Amino acid sequence: MTDAKISIHLGDLPAGLSFPSGVAIDTETLGLNPHRDRLCLVQLSSGDGTAHLIKFDGKSYAAPRLKAMLADPAILKIFHFARFDVAVLKQYLGVDTTPIYCTKIASKLARTYTDRHGLKDLVGELLGIELSKQQQSSDWGAAELSESQKSYAANDVLHLHALKAKLDSMLAREGRSDFAQAAFGFLPVRARLDLAGFEQDDIFAH
Ligand code: MN
Repeated sequence: MTDAKISIHLGDLPAGLSFPSGVAIDTETLGLNPHRDRLCLVQLSSGDGTAHLIKFDGKSYAAPRLKAMLADPAILKIFHFARFDVAVLKQYLGVDTTPIYCTKIASKLARTYTDRHGLKDLVGELLGIELSKQQQSSDWGAAELSESQKSYAANDVLHLHALKAKLDSMLAREGRSDFAQAAFGFLPVRARLDLAGFEQDDIFAH
């Protein structure tokens, strides 16, 4: 559970939000296949302990303010496993999200002492906070989200700014910040390859 302030919005961002330190983003869908499983929820946080949950009913994905923010080159978008979210945002909103930071890629490049790169693992080790993954596979298409769904959805974005700060210093310490930047830059292409049917292929493999 969380003491965070959580707001629900239908179909788009409210006007007047600003994200001076970048925006943490996560999505919830009906499943793991972006061609089949629709986008239900986009969660956002500016890193100040508040979360905005944008709910989609599946009929309209117009969302002009959200699309403008996702494509705004001046606003850094911080994800955990951006590859999936960026593909889903491309599929349903038709938008190329940029620029991108991914805490999972940063972790894989910086934390080579472990193979545990899940959000729960990172938040536990780097921030000392215990997260529940209980609502991960719940019905995100429901007309009314439960309190525990809202809390779970918010938790997926509330800690990404703090994780980024920790991971950035580890990447710098190990001399891998350039690798991370280059990998983040490739993510929009990786997401488009996934949508085009190449998700199982390592195109760099022999
Ligand atoms: Mn999530």
